[in-house]
Amino acid sequence: MITIGVLGLQGAVREHVRAIEASGAQAVIVKRTEQLEEVDGLILPGGESTTMRRLIDKYGFMEPLREFSKTGKPMFGTCAGMILLAKNLIGYEESHIGAMDITVERNAFGRQKDSFEAALSMKGVGEDFIGVFIRAPYVVDVEDHVEVLCTHEDRMVAVRQNHLLAASFHPELTDDHRVTAYFVEMVKEAKMKKVV
Ligand code: GLN
Repeated sequence: MITIGVLGLQGAVREHVRAIEASGAQAVIVKRTEQLEEVDGLILPGGESTTMRRLIDKYGFMEPLREFSKTGKPMFGTCAGMILLAKNLIGYEESHIGAMDITVERNAFGRQKDSFEAALSMKGVGEDFIGVFIRAPYVVDVEDHVEVLCTHEDRMVAVRQNHLLAASFHPELTDDHRVTAYFVEMVKEAKMKKVV
């Protein structure tokens, strides 16, 4: 059985738990750093990245999360989670976890399109699923080894770097769990590699 953690400090935690379970894996809400050892993969949910960062520092999660990103166990950052994973943030001197070689801009779709839904197609996932964007960031630049899996109006909204996945939108807010299922597959593959 695959166990996937959802960082449970703030944001859309329960919805991810539901999506993970619907995709046939076990879900754990991670509130203490020791729990990171029990999970095969980790989702960083959407919410508010500045608040999440404050809580990450308060509960001593920053170093354990950076270490986790280096173990080869998959991580998936959605929306604010994408901001946490990015190495570069437009307008900020410092990153948070900084594990992905991407440059991200917060609230990048602007006021006019603060929150919206769009039909997306994503490599490895499929066609025509609804992406829910809520004051969403997008990726403005990637290094060569980062694969762009999904764009919306020429903006990069889902990217993968080996075991690290990030999306601008909220895949957990609809009943179409194909994006979560894709991440569950990544976790299964990573776990199998470890066993062999
Ligand atoms: N705008 C938020 C931030 O900057 C992200 C929004 C979200 O996660 N839905 O953290």
